[in-house]
Amino acid sequence: MQNFDPSRAIQDYLVFGEFGDVNPSITDSSTYTFLSADKMEEIFEREIEGCFLYSRHWNPSDKYLADALARMEDTEAAQVSASGMGAINCTILQICSAGDEIVSSHTIYGGTYALFKNFLPRFGVNTKFVDITNLEEVKNAINGKTKIFYCETISNPLLEIANIPELSKIAKEAGIKLVVDNTFSPMIVSPKRLGADIVIHSMTKYINGTSDCVAGCVCSTKEFIDSLYDVNTGASMLLGPVLDSFRASSILKNLHSLHIRMQRHSRNAMYFSKGFLKLGVKVYYPGLPQHKGHELITSMMNEGMGYSGMVSIDTGDADKAKKLMVKMQEEMVGYLAVSLGYFKTLFSAPSHSTSSEIPEDVQEKIGLGKGLVRFSLGLDNDIAMSFERVKKCLKEIDLI
Ligand SMILES: *Cc1c(COP(=O)(O)O)cnc(C)c1O
Repeated sequence: MQNFDPSRAIQDYLVFGEFGDVNPSITDSSTYTFLSADKMEEIFEREIEGCFLYSRHWNPSDKYLADALARMEDTEAAQVSASGMGAINCTILQICSAGDEIVSSHTIYGGTYALFKNFLPRFGVNTKFVDITNLEEVKNAINGKTKIFYCETISNPLLEIANIPELSKIAKEAGIKLVVDNTFSPMIVSPKRLGADIVIHSMTKYINGTSDCVAGCVCSTKEFIDSLYDVNTGASMLLGPVLDSFRASSILKNLHSLHIRMQRHSRNAMYFSKGFLKLGVKVYYPGLPQHKGHELITSMMNEGMGYSGMVSIDTGDADKAKKLMVKMQEEMVGYLAVSLGYFKTLFSAPSHSTSSEIPEDVQEKIGLGKGLVRFSLGLDNDIAMSFERVKKCLKEIDLI
């Protein structure tokens, strides 16, 4: 285990509003006045720290949230964006040009998979998909054109674990950037401290935690973040996926309870996983010693946050999975919905939803069965009662 405490880093971040408000004031402006015309000219010619020009470039509310996120990921800087996909796109397009290649894990979020597989080739950026648990395969896929190695700390939906220290060594040797999507494990794993160059989150999920908006962020060196919002060449500046300042300030407030939420999501996921295991249901959870990435994630994780709130079970076939989910919704276990990190439990069948962008033969190859049901555990206090309800549903579909 690692001994970094991301919650301390955020707790020690003190910013005030303009009247000493305990929450920083929300900036409700798209543009900013200048007292001298020379100053404005100066800003356009070379970036000046701490100056605000136009809200697509930077606004104070986004900056407060970005600074807190940089502290959480222990990076020099961060940038927030209007969605996780916005953060991923800006990162990729900042680094890659036509003719460049990406090497990516084949078990990634469906939207990212579709971006790499279907969309980026139109602009001459091609991706090789690999099994990241096979480091030889990773090495062999990298060539002179490769610019990025891309993976998720805990992958969706099979909860495979990326060996960030080893992947970082490979990336450094090849002179390429290791980009890690840490959406499933904020505070649990700190990828930059393990060697990642760029850390991305869909804040839509755990970081915000209230399922009321989509948002994303990129955490990295000051040099890389500066490059993203360069007025002439920056992907974030020129593509424009800016996060609204009202949202940035509400996410910042939610960020301050993230450590408590992660602990509870993790505790509940562990309870469900052990329960499934006991009932003989095929279960995937990195907190279980039976999971093949258990030791690896234990060595990479920060102490005290648990193993995250995501659990997948295999019901064996698509029909059973569908019946189970409808019954669980009726029994008030939670909602049949995609996404994760909400205060209520959410469940969906990845094969037909969040991973449906991945072709069927590939799904089969990576072990993504049609009967798979993914849970994002909520913040239930009486988790034993919630599991009793699940058990009742499992009996009704004849799985146990
Ligand atoms: C949801 C998700 C994304 C995309 O984020 P949006 O906020 O929906 O754009 C990327 N990566 C992972 C792992 C996700 O779960």
